[in-house]
Amino acid sequence: MRERPNRHAWKACVGQLTVGSNPTPSAVTEPPLDPSVADTLMGVALDEARAALDHDDVPIGAVVVRISDGVVLARRHNEREAAADPTAHAELLALRDAAHAVDSWRLDGCALVVTLEPCPMCAGAAVAARLGGIVFGAPDPKDGACGSLYNLAADPRLNHEVPLQDGVRADDASALLRAFFAARRS
Ligand code: ZN
Repeated sequence: MRERPNRHAWKACVGQLTVGSNPTPSAVTEPPLDPSVADTLMGVALDEARAALDHDDVPIGAVVVRISDGVVLARRHNEREAAADPTAHAELLALRDAAHAVDSWRLDGCALVVTLEPCPMCAGAAVAARLGGIVFGAPDPKDGACGSLYNLAADPRLNHEVPLQDGVRADDASALLRAFFAARRS
């Protein structure tokens, strides 16, 4: 697993926390998914991300998988524009579908696989769902809440911590996003 630069920042900040800053993350946990399984599922999430392009939404896709057997419970893409809904992020939609599929708000046996690092809302929803893992592709330096700006998945002040796995097919996710924004600028 790739080391994120701001992990060093956290270490440097130990003992001088300010309000709102992250404390030192808990001990490193095992990645939620086997690397080859994570890679395959990221392929499904990338297919979902491409589907968002049909309605001119930012191409971000998400899958929720049952960790024990790899069964995909939900697969969604960003529908913020299509639904005119600020909460219609791929992750939130997939978490809702997965909860419906297992008839429980608690998703501790499941992992979220998403092409881009989740934002504060989606990382917060993952904690609320007691999710068993988050696997993401590209980091999001502007909105990321799983290591870039915050780490809501690994904050011992919250009532649940979510094992993280980052950088899975990150280049594919980044390329998709870059092409989308380049096309919009031209
Ligand atoms: Zn989000």
